[in-house]
This record gives sequence, structure tokens and C-alpha cells, in this order.
Amino acid sequence: MSGSPKRLTMAELDLLCRRQAAAGAPMAAYEGPLDRHVADGDRRLLSLEFDDSAAALRLWNFLLSEEDRLHQARAAGKKIVGTMKDLGTVPVMAYSLPGLVAFYPDGAWWTPCVMELSAGLLGLAQSLGVGEAFCPVRAMLGAFVNRAHFPIPDLLTCSVGATCDDFSAVAQRLESLGFPILWWEMPHRRRPDPQEPGVALPGGFEAPESQVALVRSELERVRAALEALAGARLGDAELAAGIREANRVRRLLADLRRLAYTAEPCPMPALEMLIAEMLAIHFCSDRAESVAVLAGLLDEVRRRADLGRGILTAGAPRIFWVNPVADLRAMNLLEDCGGRLCGTEFLFCHALDPIPEDLPPMEALARMALADPMVGPAADRASRIVRDARAFGAEAVVVSRIPGASHCALEGAVIAEIVRAELGLPVVELEVPPVADALLPTLKTRLDALGETVRRRRNP
Ligand code: SF4
Repeated sequence: MSGSPKRLTMAELDLLCRRQAAAGAPMAAYEGPLDRHVADGDRRLLSLEFDDSAAALRLWNFLLSEEDRLHQARAAGKKIVGTMKDLGTVPVMAYSLPGLVAFYPDGAWWTPCVMELSAGLLGLAQSLGVGEAFCPVRAMLGAFVNRAHFPIPDLLTCSVGATCDDFSAVAQRLESLGFPILWWEMPHRRRPDPQEPGVALPGGFEAPESQVALVRSELERVRAALEALAGARLGDAELAAGIREANRVRRLLADLRRLAYTAEPCPMPALEMLIAEMLAIHFCSDRAESVAVLAGLLDEVRRRADLGRGILTAGAPRIFWVNPVADLRAMNLLEDCGGRLCGTEFLFCHALDPIPEDLPPMEALARMALADPMVGPAADRASRIVRDARAFGAEAVVVSRIPGASHCALEGAVIAEIVRAELGLPVVELEVPPVADALLPTLKTRLDALGETVRRRRNP
């Protein structure tokens, strides 16, 4: 795994993995060839291309071994917390307590893609009354019912209120099937009225003090439930320590994003960056290991940047990507079309911003939770996208629509209008279903055209 970096098929990556193992290279216990996961049904791996570094191999193995890790945690007597919807808040609390492991059942969102629909989760959800009018998060229902994926959590939490209709309906259906949920309220974030005391949130939004106080009191209820589950007290000192650990992950990701999205030529593929960013929300069920995995990726990106090596030639069109793609193959497609990722907003930018360490810890978590781009107006979200796209030097923006997602019907148009008005950049909206094979030629044409537009704008 040296020389100029390139993307490999799974078979090529597995060959390198076997050579690395035979040479006695240090590898984590969960590492091995990815074809093990294809045998378990993860067939989409056969259609993806992967970065050729040892760091990326570790990242993929870490991601793909998560369900095993959760089952091992249960077997070892740990309690499992299923945290739903808040993307980045409750896991910080859960990992501050001994003997708890938290994960997002929402992650089943990607199972139809990774297993190329073979797990039947969408069909199961349909049989439970949650069909194609909902976003792929409905796969979570199937995973709870067939019990073939993650272990059923000992405690389920879900933020409610300023939540998309899709998740709200799916979670309510889940509860009706006999899975009790601790609901906690998230108000729709608004700007303080004139004369109303306001609070600056991480990431730059603002909210009334009263909303922060409400979220803080709701998180106190979550704290009590976590303490009862763990049989241990979660004091402010423990919570502050948990916040510092979460910030280690966030700082690593900030360094990784800064370099991966700015160095020329592009040092790391878009697909690996998407996976790396996802580690922020619940540490892929192992906080310490997520630090090690991200540190390895950052080292690799630094090494490549120092050597001036990349996976594309220098000068590739710089694309800012909004929303995660239901089919991971779409991230490969960006580079197939000659474009490079230069920034992202995958619905959880609040999980990337550092949590304030100079505030009482619950106040800090409440402010961070309210900074979620999805709990406020679409115009707020668009303003954050504008700011980040400008900071990363974007030359175009892709808004990737999620089939069935209630917020995607109009939000893309709002974002596009604001980005065009403020930055004057070209914006395209694409819809990416969980298995996008039939649409790949169309998606490719649109991304090719976007790259061409960027090049023309450079040399009018
Ligand atoms: S509709 Fe959007 S925010 Fe809601 S669960 Fe689906 S992808 Fe997530």
C-alpha cells in the first residue's frame, strides 16, 4: 500500500489485506478481507471502489464489524442503548458511563444499499404499513422485527418534536410493536425575538435561552434513564470527561476534513470521507477505537499531502455535497466524473462541531443538540452550507435527495436558491435510491455536466 494512491476493487483490496497479514503488519483484531462481509450478504461491496491504504482498510473493517461488536458487548454483560434521531447527543452521555454501549438503529438506513435489498427490510416495513412514501429509515423497523442485525437495545431513546415526519412515524410504529421508547422533546429552533435573551450555539446558530433550558431539562430525563440502566451515577465530572473524549473525535475529524477537502491533489476518496464523518455520531460503538481509526486516516492524508499525491490529478472541480447518499456507490461516481469532494453537510454538522468545554456539561450538550441543522428552518441550514462551502472553496454544490424523505421535497430548492444568491455557484439536485444502478448513467451525465460547468467558469 505505497506509491500513488488509487481506488481498488474489493478483490484487489482483499489481496493487499492478505499480503499485509502475511507480512505480519499490525492489524486490529476485527480486521480482515472484506469478502467475509459479502458472504454475510453485504453484496454492495462488490460494486464499490476503495482507497488502497491500510488506514482505509481499517476504517471499512471497523464499520462492517459494528453489529458483531454490539453482540459481543451484550455477551460481555454491557447494556445497549439504542439512540434514535438526535445524531450525536445522547451517545456522548451514554459513553460517559461504564458498561453502556450506544448506537443508532437509524443506521439501518444503509442496510438496503449494503445488502442490495436482499435482507428484505423494506418489504418488512411495507408489511407493517410503512411503505415507499417514507425514506429508507423505514428499514430500521424491519431490523427490529426480524432481529437479524443489531441486538435489541436495553433502552431506546428518541428525540421528538422538531423531527422529520418520516422518523416520527417510523418510531411511533416501532413503539406500537412493543418496543418502549423514552421520548425526549426537541423544540423547533427559532431565533430569539427582539428583547428575548438568546444563546449562541456551537456552529453559529442562535436560540432563545428558554429553548436551551427546555432541552437541558429533557436531557436530564435521559440522564436519569441512563443512570438507572448503568446502575451508576452520571455526575457532571463524568459527563465533562465524556465531552472531552467526544471532542477528541471531533477534533480529529476537523483536521481530517480540513486537509482532505483542501489539499491538492485530492488525498482521500469521497466514499471514505463519508464513512469517516459518520464515526462522529456514535463512534461506531467503540469510542477509543474510533479515535485510533481516525488518527490513522489523518496520518495517511497528511503523508499524501506532504508528498503531493492524490487519487485524482490536481485541479479537479471542487464539489460541496449536501445530504448522505442512500447508495454509497454515488460517492465513487463523483470521482468517476472527475470531481472531488471539498466539503459536506450530511445532516449532522452539529456532531462535527466541538462541544463547549467551558460550560456546565448539560448546558453544553443542550446547546449542541439545538444546533442540529434539521431542527431549525431550512434557511438556517442553507446559511451554514453557504458558510462552509465558501470556507472550503467550493465551485459547485450537489444536493442529494433522499427518496421519500419528507424534508427533501422543498428543502433542496431553498438551499439551491440561497447558495446561488449568496455564492453564485451552480447547484444540482440528484435523487439517489438505495440501489442506484439503473440511474447511474443519468447521475453520471449530470455530474459530468456539473464538472464541465465548473471548468468553463474557470476559463470563460
Ligand atoms: S427523512 Fe431525512 S432526516 Fe428523516 S430519517 Fe429520513 S434521511 Fe433522516
